[in-house]
Amino acid sequence: MAPAELEAFAARAKADYDGWAAKGLSINMARGKPCPEQLDLSEEMLDLDMAGHIMCEDGDVRNYGILSGIPECRRLFAELCEVDEKNVIIGGCSSLQLMYDFVSQCVVNGAGAEPWIKQGKVKFIAVVPGYDRHFGICQYLGIDMVNVPINADGPDMDMVEELIKDPSVKGMLCVPKYSNPDGITYSPAVVDRLARMKPAAPDFRVIWDNAYCIHGLYDEDDYLPNILEEAAKYGNEDNFVVFVSTSKISFPGAGVAAMAASDNNIAALTERLRYQIISYDKINQLRHVLFFGNVDGIREHMKKHAAILRPKFDIVLRTLKEELGGLGIAHWVEPRGGYFISLYVDTGSATEVGRLCKAAGLTMTGVGATYPYGKDPFDANIRIAPSYPSVAELEIASKVLCSAVRLAACEALR
Ligand code: PMP
Repeated sequence: MAPAELEAFAARAKADYDGWAAKGLSINMARGKPCPEQLDLSEEMLDLDMAGHIMCEDGDVRNYGILSGIPECRRLFAELCEVDEKNVIIGGCSSLQLMYDFVSQCVVNGAGAEPWIKQGKVKFIAVVPGYDRHFGICQYLGIDMVNVPINADGPDMDMVEELIKDPSVKGMLCVPKYSNPDGITYSPAVVDRLARMKPAAPDFRVIWDNAYCIHGLYDEDDYLPNILEEAAKYGNEDNFVVFVSTSKISFPGAGVAAMAASDNNIAALTERLRYQIISYDKINQLRHVLFFGNVDGIREHMKKHAAILRPKFDIVLRTLKEELGGLGIAHWVEPRGGYFISLYVDTGSATEVGRLCKAAGLTMTGVGATYPYGKDPFDANIRIAPSYPSVAELEIASKVLCSAVRLAACEALR
C-alpha cells in the first residue's frame, strides 16, 4: 500500500472500530463451551428413571467397586475408540483430570522405568499452537516444554524425530483430530511416523487427547487412523495413551471420561486406581449407556450438535473472508470439526487485537494462551470459540474482531 492509501485505510479502520467500541457490547468468545441449545439436546438424560436401573452386568451401580468402569460403558467407549473392551478404563467426568493423573503417575511412579522426578529435568513436546490446559499440566508438574509447530497435516515430524533422540524428552501432548485450536486432523502419513517412533527414552508417552473424535461439523468426517492399532504394528503400543470424554457430547463437567491404552499401560493405570479411588460415578456411566445405547446413538446425537454449530462457524468464517480476505494481514484455518477457529495476525499484533477487542466489550481467549508459558513467539495466534454466543452475537463479534485486526495492522505497518 502507498502511504496515502495506508492512511485512508487506517482512518476507515479507526472509524469502524470506534463505532463498535461505542456500542457498549458484552460478548464472550473466550472458551469452547457448548451453548444452552446444545446442552438441551441431552436434557432427556436427566429424566431417565435411574432408580429403575440400579444393576449393571457386574453388579449394583450404587455401591463401591467395579473400578475400571461398568462393562456396558467400557463397551460403549471401546466402540468409540475402536479398541477391545479390556483396553478401556472409564474415569470420572473429566478427561483432563485423567491426563493430569496419568502424567503425575509417570512423574511420581514412572512409566516402566525410574520415576521421571528422579531422572532430573524432563521435557515434553508441545504441539503449537495447542491447548492451554495441557501446557498447564506440564508447567504445574515441572515438565519443560519444547514447541513443535503444527502443519496442515499435523506436527512437524522432522522436528519430532530429532527431539526424541534426547532421552530427557519423555512425551508429547497432542490433539490429533480437529485440533485445539486449528481444527487440523493428523494425516495417515503423520500418524504412521508417530506410530513408528523409537524414542531414546524407554518411558516415552504420548498424551493422545482425542477430545474431538466425533465432533465433525459436516456429513463427511475427517479420518484419523487408530493410533493404538498403528503403533502395535511396530511394537510401540505402549508409547500412546488415548483420552476421550463426553464433555462436548452430553454435559461438560457432568459427562463421562475414558482412557484407552495397551495391556501394559492399562495394568499400570489399574494399579494406580487401586490407591486413588474406590469407585467413579457408575450411575452416570449407566445413565450415559441408557441414553446413547451404542456408538451409532452418539453419532446421531452429534449430528444435532453439528446442526447447531455449523451456522456459527459459517458466520465467523464468512466475516473473516469478507472483512480480512485478500488484505495480506491475517490468515486462518477453515476447520471441518472441533470447537475453534484459529486466526493468525500476520503483522504480529495479536496482543493489540486482544486489547482492542476487550476495550470494545469482546472477550477473546487470552492471547498467548495457545502456547506454553503463555508466550506466542510470533504474537500472531488468536483462538476464536464460536460455540457459546448466539448467531446474532457472533455476527457482531466477528465484525468487532475484524475491525480490531485491521486497526492493529495499520498501527503495526505505520
Ligand atoms: N482436551 C481438549 C483438547 C479440550 O479442548 C478440552 C475442553 N476444552 C478438554 C480436553 C477437556 O475435556 P474434559 O472436559 O473431558 O476434561
